[in-house]
Amino acid sequence: MNEHKIDEPEINEHKTAVTVLGLGQMGAALAGAFLDAGLPTTVWNRTPAKADPLVARGAVRAASVVEAVAASDLVVVCVLDYPAVRALLAPVADALRGRTLVNLTSGSPEQAREEAAWAAEHGAAYLDGGIMTTPPGVGDPGNMVLYSGDPAVFAEHRETLAVLGDPVGLGADPGLASLYDAGLLGLMWSVFGGWLHATALAGADGVAAKDFTEVATRWLRTVAWFMSTYADQIDAGAYPGDDATIDVQAAAIGHLLHAGEARGIDGRLPRLHLELMREAVEAGHGGDSYARIIEAFRPTPR
Ligand code: NAP
Repeated sequence: MNEHKIDEPEINEHKTAVTVLGLGQMGAALAGAFLDAGLPTTVWNRTPAKADPLVARGAVRAASVVEAVAASDLVVVCVLDYPAVRALLAPVADALRGRTLVNLTSGSPEQAREEAAWAAEHGAAYLDGGIMTTPPGVGDPGNMVLYSGDPAVFAEHRETLAVLGDPVGLGADPGLASLYDAGLLGLMWSVFGGWLHATALAGADGVAAKDFTEVATRWLRTVAWFMSTYADQIDAGAYPGDDATIDVQAAAIGHLLHAGEARGIDGRLPRLHLELMREAVEAGHGGDSYARIIEAFRPTPR
């Protein structure tokens, strides 16, 4: 084996040219992943100096947004927010015609749908995306990048986009990547909250966060299995309490509250869960599975 081979960039079979607009922490990581894959990469950033390290690695610096767009059929944009995307692209809309715009900027589903409509008006194909990692995780196929928009456009660029992380196509509605992204971040914050609360509880008795977390991450796999079972119940609209009822869990959360109070641990999070369980019990659903709690989050029927 050639020992120097490891450091050489892999050459993408089709060598698709890509442009990256926006070289903040995330945009620079995206451009870096394209360069690592050996793709001809053109870059532009409002503050030009941020392109310097990428140019040193082989990227082509575009002097203007229009020059950057003209350089590649595939244009990736990743800036602060959607108003910044529009401010960048509106003056160069004509140059986008016939190209594919992949917007990896975070926003709402409504903004994504508006951006897709704007791109269509200007003759550009459009994919919206959600990057489910931080910049150091870009390029790792173990991390997902979510995409929504025309499935044919996604299929056409899938191989190139795989350079950034595992590309997950969610379907034709361009708002779906942002919708999933927002929901998944909410899930992450809930998990962080539960984990930090539990780690504080264990830590009060001298358990190191590392030791507790080793067990906690194994538990998350079991929780993921519960979720898959409950997802089927939610889709079926029936919540049989044939594994563990809300009544049983409302009693169990009492132990968590008690253990927390005895150690001076803030109880706001478990109290919120208890409140949701109590509401279900008071409505006569104590014998149902925990999946029934979804009704507390749904819009009230008018
Ligand atoms: P960042 O480091 O703060 O970079 C922001 C980028 O946006 C810079 O390139 C900045 O240009 C540019 N920008 C801001 N306003 C602009 C405008 N009006 N016109 C032109 N360019 C403008 O942020 P980031 O972490 O790269 O995040 C970029 C996007 O990726 C955000 O939507 C973020 O939510 C999303 N994202 C980030 C992460 C993460 O972990 N960082 C993860 C997933 C998604 P200048 O350099 O000239 O200021």
